[in-house]
Amino acid sequence: MRLGAQISIAGGVHTAFKRADEVGCESMMIFTKSNRQWKAKPLTDEDIQKYKEAEEEYSHIHPVAVHASYLINIASPKEDLWEKSYQALKVEVERCGQLGIPLINFHPGSHVKSGEEAGMNQIVRGLKRLLAETETSAPDTIICLELMAGQGTNLGSTFEQVAFMLAEAGSDERLGVCLDTCHIFAGGYDIRTPEAYAATMADFDRTIGFDQLKFFHLNDSKHELGSNKDRHEHIGQGFIGEAGFANFVNDPRWAEHPAHLETPKTETDDEGNETEMDPVNLAVLRGLVG
Ligand code: ZN
Ligand code: MN
Ligand code: MN
Repeated sequence: MRLGAQISIAGGVHTAFKRADEVGCESMMIFTKSNRQWKAKPLTDEDIQKYKEAEEEYSHIHPVAVHASYLINIASPKEDLWEKSYQALKVEVERCGQLGIPLINFHPGSHVKSGEEAGMNQIVRGLKRLLAETETSAPDTIICLELMAGQGTNLGSTFEQVAFMLAEAGSDERLGVCLDTCHIFAGGYDIRTPEAYAATMADFDRTIGFDQLKFFHLNDSKHELGSNKDRHEHIGQGFIGEAGFANFVNDPRWAEHPAHLETPKTETDDEGNETEMDPVNLAVLRGLVG
């Protein structure tokens, strides 16, 4: 796998490359704007220029993926929030187009008691419009639905739901799937032993298809199999455990797939010493290879 992490863009999108390099990333994931705000300051020509220069300087770090804002909910039954979410997601996809970023993932959304079917129909409506309206502004960006933990009324926690939405949106080649290990495990898909992993991945292939699987989020889980709780833990320190991650990093099918940590950035010990955790988690993953 092309291992990496979620990297800060504090100081401009181009600054992420240097940070990613320092922690030993082979690929990385970024936000292109603040992930907890609706507003995005448009990228200037200078922002884009600096990004392209950094991309060239750190050409060993690729591909780059974007995580869309957590606020976006295109499953919403409320038309005003739906439109606001749709526009925000569209802006993020367009930013990927401007920066030449090939992958973006988003949380499919929450139906907020309107029901699974109504929620999925809203998502499908958004995806169809998004594909049409970004066809020229981001032709090479693949928009990925992230598999979720099934917390609350969040959609996209079963392979069947994701397969349904992809098909209804027209099985477009600009659509794909992002597999988050913590989320699928919390959603009830076991990956801890070679046998369980093989069965889960065979289920994925049957239901969604491996050609749709574009990248991974590698997170251990603070909660048990099927808990439906979305709480990330350091690699090997949660309920998935090192053996679960060994299944992924040694699977030759994902040798060129980007895979990114979204685990806590630091840990503080009893004496108040702070440790940067991305290098630690990456080292654990690399130690499992072979
Ligand atoms: Zn996510
Ligand atoms: Mn994730
Ligand atoms: Mn999560």
